[in-house]
Amino acid sequence: MKNNFYDVVIIGGGLAGLKAAETLSESDLKVALIDENPFLGGQYLRTLPESFTDKLLKYKTKVKKEGLKLIELLKNKKLDIFVNSTVIGIYEDDKLLFDSFGETKQLNYKNLIIATGARERYLPFPGWTLPGVFSLGAIQVFLKSNGVLPADEITLAGSGPFLYAVAYEILKAGGNVKAIYELKRFGEQLSFSKGLINFPSKIIEAFVYMEEILSQHVPIKYGRIVIEAEGEEELQRVKVGKLDRDGNIIEKSVKTMETELLGIGYGFVPNLETVRAAGVEIIYREELGGWIAKVDEELKSNKSNIFLAGELTGIGGAEKSLIEGELAALSLLNSLNLIKDRDKSRLKSLVKKRKKALNYAKYFNTVYSIPLKLYSLINDETIICRCENINMKKIREAIELGPANMNFVKTFTRAGMGNCQGRICGPIIENIIKSLKTKTPEPSTTRRPLKPALVGNLKKFYEKEIKGN
Ligand SMILES: Cc1cc2nc3c(=O)[nH]c(=O)nc-3n(C[C@H](O)[C@H](O)[C@H](O)COP(=O)(O)OP(=O)(O)OC[C@H]3O[C@@H](n4cnc5c(N)ncnc54)[C@H](O)[C@@H]3O)c2cc1C
Repeated sequence: MKNNFYDVVIIGGGLAGLKAAETLSESDLKVALIDENPFLGGQYLRTLPESFTDKLLKYKTKVKKEGLKLIELLKNKKLDIFVNSTVIGIYEDDKLLFDSFGETKQLNYKNLIIATGARERYLPFPGWTLPGVFSLGAIQVFLKSNGVLPADEITLAGSGPFLYAVAYEILKAGGNVKAIYELKRFGEQLSFSKGLINFPSKIIEAFVYMEEILSQHVPIKYGRIVIEAEGEEELQRVKVGKLDRDGNIIEKSVKTMETELLGIGYGFVPNLETVRAAGVEIIYREELGGWIAKVDEELKSNKSNIFLAGELTGIGGAEKSLIEGELAALSLLNSLNLIKDRDKSRLKSLVKKRKKALNYAKYFNTVYSIPLKLYSLINDETIICRCENINMKKIREAIELGPANMNFVKTFTRAGMGNCQGRICGPIIENIIKSLKTKTPEPSTTRRPLKPALVGNLKKFYEKEIKGN
């Protein structure tokens, strides 16, 4: 690759990365934006197929409109955009490696903005590996990226606002939601709704979703948990039970329902692989989603040339990511003495806006936290690491035998050594350790390649770029 030096490289083309890119495109800096997806927009703005655009975009939040506008704006801006490009390594000498269209490539950066977003959080139960059990995000991928409903009739379970957003999207796309099973009890949900008075934009969004759900008579059952998904070769039935105040299942409440597809979702955890590979410090903040990247109020990390934005500084939703994208970009310009006078007051106002967004984040992460006890109650046969087929019994043994940290569990059981490299089971095991040992373990060590990479590509890169053949 020729001329691969950039003043700023932004990793992640979600709302945070897009806003950072647009803000920096006003400067004379040479900027690159990298995202592993084939489209920009991240998790919130997947590119909708024509057939679904009208249906799913009928209700556009202010943030969604702004995100779509940013994607259009960036088409005419002076910056290099690399899609289908996965960052697999970040190195001390300000170099990063990424895999793109079957080739490993290298960029040199002076400054980095990392905005790699979040992934879903899980609470395993027997049968969650059956075909027909989906994460809520996977249902969205079917809807938004492929333009199809994965089944005619869908049952949803889990906790938090995303459950209702996905129910709304299924209904708008012409699907049928059989029931929603919310982990939180009705009283907790009610107090969450009352607390929204402090966050007016969220009230409108919640109202739009609930109006659709209630007008289509979708039953919502509170204080419920999926106990088991059953079926011969694919999902056929789901067993759901009610929890008492101590988090125990009330036996006589257990019911079995037939369903074609079960969507589950228990919120999000930040994607920290790139952050950790870059030597950025992380801290544990339960009220912001667990392990998050450590930043100051202007989103500077412990590394003077690395800034962070979006879900990885705390799970807070789309609005927070937009605020932080702009804030990280202005903060970076400020550090280089390139910020315009008018933007200095903008930076200050963004710091204040971010504080408000963080208050909302702390609020909903606390209301919708999963009681740790539920992780200690997972039965021995339940698969925890899907890639390596490791069950709860083996994880429990490792925790009892060893120093109860993630690396030991990984070495002892192979959990986290498969294709997803612990992205799914890592946060689950962390919660199991916490529930059994009441201490928060450090996440397991991050190693390059940060995401699965083809050895053939790395070899070609080595021969061409390092050996110079
Ligand atoms: C599956 C899923 C679905 C969601 N759906 C909704 C929704 O419908 N409504 C809602 O309000 N919120 C949703 N969220 C929450 C969502 O994360 C935020 O609302 C918002 O999109 C966050 O923006 P962001 O820029 O911080 O992160 P993201 O939108 O997650 O963007 C991060 C980007 O970084 C890229 N990336 C990550 N690692 C690498 C790498 N190594 N190399 C290159 N690129 C990388 C990803 O491809 C992604 O595009 C969803 C979250 C998830 C995980």
